[in-house]
Amino acid sequence: MKIAVAGTGYVGLVTGTCLAEMGQTVVCFDVQKEKIVALQQGRSPIYEQGLEPLIQKNMNAGRLSFTADEKEAYGEADIVFLAVGTPEKEDGSADLTYMEAAVFSIARTMTKDIVLVTKSTVPVGTNERIRALMERWKPPFLRTSVISNPEFLREGSAVHDWFYGDRIVIGASEADKEAAELLSRLYEPLGIPIVRTDLASAEMIKYASNAFLATKISFINEIANICEKVGATIDDVAYGIGLDKRIGSHFLQAGIGYGGSCFPKDTKALVQIAGNVQHKFELLEAVIQVNNRQQALLVEKAKQHMSLRGKNVALLGLAFKPNTDDVREAASLVIANRLLAEGAHVVAYDPIATDNAKNHLPSTIRYASSVTEAIRGADAAFIVTEWDVIKQTPLSVFREKMRTPIIFDGRNCYSLDEAKQANVTYVSIGRAEVV
Ligand code: NAD
Repeated sequence: MKIAVAGTGYVGLVTGTCLAEMGQTVVCFDVQKEKIVALQQGRSPIYEQGLEPLIQKNMNAGRLSFTADEKEAYGEADIVFLAVGTPEKEDGSADLTYMEAAVFSIARTMTKDIVLVTKSTVPVGTNERIRALMERWKPPFLRTSVISNPEFLREGSAVHDWFYGDRIVIGASEADKEAAELLSRLYEPLGIPIVRTDLASAEMIKYASNAFLATKISFINEIANICEKVGATIDDVAYGIGLDKRIGSHFLQAGIGYGGSCFPKDTKALVQIAGNVQHKFELLEAVIQVNNRQQALLVEKAKQHMSLRGKNVALLGLAFKPNTDDVREAASLVIANRLLAEGAHVVAYDPIATDNAKNHLPSTIRYASSVTEAIRGADAAFIVTEWDVIKQTPLSVFREKMRTPIIFDGRNCYSLDEAKQANVTYVSIGRAEVV
């Protein structure tokens, strides 16, 4: 069986590489030729733990290849995994342009019956639309099956998540039962529970999962904001809530909100999907609103302590979360721009994401190559991403290196006791301030 993957981003590259690792023969295609050139040399264009060695291993074993030639990718394929981007449009709905372009190139290059497997996150009804487009564009004597197989990997642990995910969702219509069976067999060696359902439900599972997780984050952040005002401590509150098995302890880490390429766009897309069927999704609208406010919270807190005009500020962490180079919709972008607007001089540090961030941030920001370099002589430090290298920096180092040791911690990396002992001003989320 020959497998092709459309798109070599976080999802496509992990999918292609891990399928090859499972013994399949896989060819990955991307429209960005420079990505393919790097991959053909065994270099991963994205940072993802453990991915590059796995790419090289499977290329050497002859199971994994990369091409920018659509005929070479799809001409002989039995299964094509669609993993192209579905970014947000101006109105919040999902942009399906890349998806349709990929479907078109598959239709015009396929030479045998094909199973299309949609990994990208797409609004309810999209897989039916893909089927209709294929019917219009493909050679009439060939058959296409369309399967919805949404992806749940987390950037930063994507390879691990492929092999140890919580569930695999396979949605198909009655007519494509055989193709769904084929895909189930492909995944069977992983031993992960498989949810078999129809297309619309599979599409909905993905959006509902992300919306629920985003809701959990905004919920705990609101609780944290109230904790500050009533003199409670969010760490103890979250622990106390999370021990209830009906709630669970995951995703109860208060902070400056969610970011990344999925939660922000998928929550907005679900509000749109609901709106299209005349349902106002008020709960999710509030979740989004709370998150927008939360991303800007740290600067508001800082302004209560000091004027930022002319101050040297260290911005620690640019990636939207640790262990990834992805800065899409990261809180760091909001905070950096607000700090600049307040007249601060910003020195940013991130162990991995700096190059990506440079494409998103104004050129007036300077970049440091270590935490200590960033905080040296600073009037304030903002902790935005809880990378190990950041949270393991002792607070005593902040006190020694900074001009005035004032730390605004958006990820609650330190305990209040540590802050008191280190003799620094420490402002975090949902907890008393240490001054
Ligand atoms: P990405 O932006 O990292 O990668 C998308 C890739 O598709 C790019 O390399 C782009 O060049 C390529 N592409 C665009 N048009 C193409 C075409 N016509 N043919 C072939 N390649 C094409 O995106 P991503 O983060 O991998 O996300 C892909 C999809 O998976 C999205 O729908 C996203 O919502 C979903 N998803 C992402 C994650 C995640 O953590 N990143 C997790 C689950 C689901």
